Amino acid sequence: MAARNGAQFLAGLDNGREIWVGDEKVASITDHPALSGAAGALAEVYDLQLREAEDCLMPDPETGEAINVSHMIPRSLEDLQRRHRGLERTAEYSGGLMGRTPDYMNVTFAGFAGRADEWANNGNGHGAENLVNYQKLLARRDLSLTHTIVHTTVNLGAGNVPDGLDPVQLHKVEDTEHGIIVRGSRVLATLAPFADELAVYPGAPMPDAAAHHALSFCIPLDAPGLKFICRDSVSVNSNKFDHPLSTRFDEQDAFVIFDDVEVPRERLFIDANLEVYNTVMKTSWWPNIMQQTMIRAQTKLEFARGLGLAMAGAINRDDDQTRQMLGEIAMFTEFARSSIFAAEQAAHEYGNGLWCCAAPPLFALRAALPVWFPRVNEILRKIGSHNLLTTPSKAALADAELRPLIDRYLGGVGVDAEQRDRIFRLAWDFAGTALGSRNEQYERFYLGSEGRNLNWAHEAMDRERSARLVDRFLSEEID
Ligand SMILES: Cc1cc2nc3c(=O)[nH]c(=O)nc-3n(C[C@H](O)[C@H](O)[C@H](O)COP(=O)(O)OP(=O)(O)OC[C@H]3O[C@@H](n4cnc5c(N)ncnc54)[C@H](O)[C@@H]3O)c2cc1C
Repeated sequence: MAARNGAQFLAGLDNGREIWVGDEKVASITDHPALSGAAGALAEVYDLQLREAEDCLMPDPETGEAINVSHMIPRSLEDLQRRHRGLERTAEYSGGLMGRTPDYMNVTFAGFAGRADEWANNGNGHGAENLVNYQKLLARRDLSLTHTIVHTTVNLGAGNVPDGLDPVQLHKVEDTEHGIIVRGSRVLATLAPFADELAVYPGAPMPDAAAHHALSFCIPLDAPGLKFICRDSVSVNSNKFDHPLSTRFDEQDAFVIFDDVEVPRERLFIDANLEVYNTVMKTSWWPNIMQQTMIRAQTKLEFARGLGLAMAGAINRDDDQTRQMLGEIAMFTEFARSSIFAAEQAAHEYGNGLWCCAAPPLFALRAALPVWFPRVNEILRKIGSHNLLTTPSKAALADAELRPLIDRYLGGVGVDAEQRDRIFRLAWDFAGTALGSRNEQYERFYLGSEGRNLNWAHEAMDRERSARLVDRFLSEEID
């Protein structure tokens, strides 16, 4: 099967997977009030790839069938630019609000398969072969993947990766005839209710962990023993006028429990092999995945700028402070665009023929975003002020008695009352609602926290010229 449409995607969701929302084991993802909106949105993402086929699809290199361009293993700058167009179309669908649309994991696995040579180290030839086969299956079945790479937090005083064998954390229990049994837990599987399969792969290296923890695999969501506990829903089951974003873009985040789950041998990419676990993420994963995540983030910044401009325009807020705040968002968007451009222009081969963006511009941008996004929300709330809350509902607008009064008292400049209402509702749903709050938390943490990203930026940036500029003064002869 090649690239799927939305109906085909939805048909795979209600398959007995164990998804908990509150104390309810969800019977149907597509019917559940907390989940149906995002299920529908992801179906539209699948439809979009067929509609925007020129940007979003490419021929499978072996079968010629149309697959999503996010499955491409880039071999040149032109490939990266081609992939850029497809990733941008997908990001635009949700204004960058859905961080974990399937292209995120598609790009990750394309990068893994592109460096299968690294995965084959230390006697892991079978694992690497399984990985390459799986990446083809992922592309050809056009699966939606959720993933979990972070260890559950219990006692940070003892470190944030296992030391020895920690029974709380995901680990191998035993070999079976057809694979292995795994047990334990992990965080935090965004998209879990809307995924076909779960991917487990290395997060941070764990130098002192027992090899039992060194695992990577993919398994179907309905694998027996696999359980997902969703966070409180931020989805609002009303209408797209009242809640234009939170009716559809709650991609969910879930805690994962592996209650003795069997992983088939052909789905194992790392089987208790610490050496491989601790090395495969070090070279190309970041620069590869950051092309997707930074295009998504840049799209979201531009969407936020559009919201600020629309609000300011609707009430003719054109004071100095507002213009400066809008200038701040404009600055963020341009820095983001420029960083991605610079990273693509300086793209190079990372080994085994795999091309990725240059890492430093993207490390710099990634380290800035956990600060920029909360500031963007603050700016939108300041520009919007109380206007974010003088927003009659769709039902109020439909009320014959209220409507003439709303039209008379809640108009704007160049926009009627209904349009003004839509602008401020959209901005509030972006920055002020429960969805807005969850999304701010996402931007702070989804790809490492601010502190970790600043540390990586510090490590990744070339320091030779800085040292040279200082040395000139330190080494000059002083009379
Ligand atoms: C909404 C959301 C969705 C997520 N989705 C997924 C998912 O789909 N799959 C998945 O596997 N994970 C997911 N995660 C988990 C995410 O990967 C981790 O939360 C993230 O890597 C941060 O790790 P941490 O929580 O251990 O925080 P830490 O990195 O420990 O950060 C906690 C605090 O300590 C500070 N800090 C930490 N280290 C340093 C340092 N070295 N120097 C200075 N300060 C430091 C940070 O700045 C921060 O304030 C998600 C998280 C969120 C919030």
